[in-house]
Amino acid sequence: MTRLRPASELRSILHRIDGLGYKAYKEIEGRYELEGFVLSIDHVQGDPFAEPSRVRLFVPERTAQFPERLWANRSCRIGLADFLTRAVAETLRRAATRVRGSGTSGLILIDAPGQEVLERTSVIVHNGDLEVRLKVGLPAAGRTVLGKAAAEILLGQLPELIERALRYRAHAPSEVERHVAANEDQDFLREKLKELGLVAFVANGSLLPRRSGVDDRPMPRERAVLFQSPPSMEVEIELPHAGPVRGMGIPSGVTLIVGGGYHGKSTLLRAIERGVYNHIPGDGRELVVTDPTAVKIRAEDGRRIEKVNISPFIGRLPFGKDTRSFSTDDASGSTSQAANIIEALEVGARVLLMDEDTCATNFMIRDHRMQELVAKEKEPITPFLDKVRQLYGELGVSTILAIGGSGEYFDVADRVIMMDEYRPRDVTAQAKAIAAKYKAERKAEGGERFGEITPRRPLPESINPSKGKRDVKLKAADRDEILFGAEEIDLSAVEQIVSRSQTRAIGHALVALKTRYLNGRRTLLEALEALERDLDREGLDLLTPYPVGDLARPRRYEIAAAVNRLRTLEVLA
Ligand code: ADP
Ligand code: MG
Repeated sequence: MTRLRPASELRSILHRIDGLGYKAYKEIEGRYELEGFVLSIDHVQGDPFAEPSRVRLFVPERTAQFPERLWANRSCRIGLADFLTRAVAETLRRAATRVRGSGTSGLILIDAPGQEVLERTSVIVHNGDLEVRLKVGLPAAGRTVLGKAAAEILLGQLPELIERALRYRAHAPSEVERHVAANEDQDFLREKLKELGLVAFVANGSLLPRRSGVDDRPMPRERAVLFQSPPSMEVEIELPHAGPVRGMGIPSGVTLIVGGGYHGKSTLLRAIERGVYNHIPGDGRELVVTDPTAVKIRAEDGRRIEKVNISPFIGRLPFGKDTRSFSTDDASGSTSQAANIIEALEVGARVLLMDEDTCATNFMIRDHRMQELVAKEKEPITPFLDKVRQLYGELGVSTILAIGGSGEYFDVADRVIMMDEYRPRDVTAQAKAIAAKYKAERKAEGGERFGEITPRRPLPESINPSKGKRDVKLKAADRDEILFGAEEIDLSAVEQIVSRSQTRAIGHALVALKTRYLNGRRTLLEALEALERDLDREGLDLLTPYPVGDLARPRRYEIAAAVNRLRTLEVLA
């Protein structure tokens, strides 16, 4: 730990280096004691056009003064950190900090979250003490230090930011409490699902539709139909803060979401997908909660597959290609969907979520007429229809499937929900009656057993983040793409990544897997479990060589998805 220096020292350096070349800023790296907090200038950018400088604020409990109940447990701390990240972002937005000078001069940035509440590194609550991580563009004219402007930012705007966003008294108490309580309630509810035999819960009054396909905020209330559970599926759950809430409980097993086109099937399924995360109050989905191991499955043709045992779904490919250890650089719709399922099961998914909109038809069904025309011996694919019950019966894995196009699934469903003008109805009895009246003529093709899930042991040397002279070259180009060494990892079909900060963390997690958790003998599941335990204990900082403010916690399923999509991956199976 470097020496704690007085603020006056920072001020005098900044005055002294005013007008010098940009490199002179390097001298301010270090820790300073300001009024009521510590300013840590961790890294000074090389020039005004580079990534802005990394700065941390340590605000002790005696300055921040958030009451203990707001940071008493992990769930509260994450809720409070999320609240404070948003408060900082909002304060910065209102202050309209803008570029004053060259490059990033004058910018103050925090990694701003979306609708989900995730564990992040932007603000960390250590008991009552706060650690806030920012990026600051140290100001310059051309490449010349603007020392006075820098002093104004570091010794004026940052203390101001603490006053306005990071002290309890700056906020309406009810607002902070609500945010933290909502987060605790959601964690409680998710925990409660298992006990109640449910895989998802959608509270009455939830607002599921979003503004648009590219805007995740809620649809304006006046246009939306609020969710109301069918009476037969209604359950009541007592929450620690909100008290009793009622809503639709989806039991474990096989559940269909049917209904006419445009009646809200995909919207409900998408809300369930996102229910593995908590949401902010006012989102509309803050009481839509799903089993934390639920994984969205879809077809993804073109993806690579490395030695996955897809034989439960696909056998006897042309030219005798082995499906017990199946590899390809260019998967088809059906093989990619099969691999996506097996890979999710391999790392512990207990619920599969599927939407016909993004499924391969020949993976989902094979009807009587097609069975007559194309003999079983000529069709490698065993449709999901014939496997979904085994999945539940043998492996305890539930499925929720949005499907409007095929009634074949009535036979295998435990529960059928019909979306009718955005209102769910329980039509299980009708669907079963129809299934009894019009017997499916097709023959079941699923065999006796589901088949084996074969664990794989990734070879660490096949995960290579180096490029040129650099051992690690990483960039989350976007939410759905990681530049990993010389490779690009395409995550566009991994739909439960909700933030680029998660993508960034996934990139780092791959490096951690390679260097610390995999050794050629460990299975992917074992390595991910070990990583998760360490993340729970040590936090996201274990992923990076120095503290950064722009990571958010990914789930193990999404980390596994990135490993599986790395085109250089090699495993022992
Ligand atoms: P489906 O999958 O049944 O074809 P979608 O879920 O895609 O239907 O919904 C169709 C449209 O209806 C979408 O534009 C969506 O935003 C809108 N929508 C969905 N649910 C609601 C709702 N509860 N209230 C208002 N509009 C909704
Ligand atoms: Mg749809």
